[in-house]
Amino acid sequence: MQLSEIKNIFHKELLELYPKEEIDSFFYQSIEHFLKLERFVLVMQPNLALTKDEERPLFETLARLNQEEPLQYIFGRAYFMDLTLKVNGNTLIPRPETEELVQWIISETKNHKPQIRILDIGTGSGCIAISLAKAFPKAKVYALDISKEALQIAKENAVSNGVFIEFIQADILNFNLDLTFDIVVSNPPYVRELEKKKIQNNVKKHEPEIALFVPDNDPLLFYKAIGEFANSNLGEKGNLYLEINQYLGSETKSLLENQNFIKIEVKKDIFENNRMLKCQKMD
Ligand code: GLN
Repeated sequence: MQLSEIKNIFHKELLELYPKEEIDSFFYQSIEHFLKLERFVLVMQPNLALTKDEERPLFETLARLNQEEPLQYIFGRAYFMDLTLKVNGNTLIPRPETEELVQWIISETKNHKPQIRILDIGTGSGCIAISLAKAFPKAKVYALDISKEALQIAKENAVSNGVFIEFIQADILNFNLDLTFDIVVSNPPYVRELEKKKIQNNVKKHEPEIALFVPDNDPLLFYKAIGEFANSNLGEKGNLYLEINQYLGSETKSLLENQNFIKIEVKKDIFENNRMLKCQKMD
């Protein structure tokens, strides 16, 4: 079949689900990803014909897009900071907000002693832990997740990005460790069930629920557990960095105040939402 015909089929089949520009972008990204063809090929060779083998991944992609599956899962990779990461349905697709959290940590940790110890709680694809391990080559980085499947992906990502990370499979709601850290960081689940209707289908249908949702009657359960853990496992002047629910900024801050953290700072993301929090363990 000719490339231009396949493009038309993408448009016809996806018309009701996505805007035209997005369908164009899906198509061009797919031919680039699977066939290494750049988008101008359609201008240069409008009648370019593909073999059955070349067509197959494009039609598989189309079927998955029809199920509103994110392109990152279809291709099995996502970008975060300057990293390329493997992702699948067991890991969240890393978000730009989380890049902002990592950038905040990096900018504030510049003059720290080099051999710092860092723990990332709920690492998923490993995006936070791996970026920090790259930024602080002498640091000892630990990353924890409850999901064996996510840890498998995070391990592959650590290897492919050339960093060493100590992975721990555990449930932070029920976890103790005999180690102290300079930095504890987490992007835990924080979306309330009541916010589900605001969430796009591609997220709801395909991203791992255990990484996203919390009960309406106890939305800060992970923050409470992480705060307790950080209280006993942060060293002197150790910092806790959190990605937070934009609607629960003041509640999250009060929780950490009640856990005796000091210097609590809530920071907005580029969309002006309260998205990050930093605090320090009391001396
Ligand atoms: N920011 C993510 C979203 O809105 C949620 C991440 C999380 O729950 N930790 O989909």
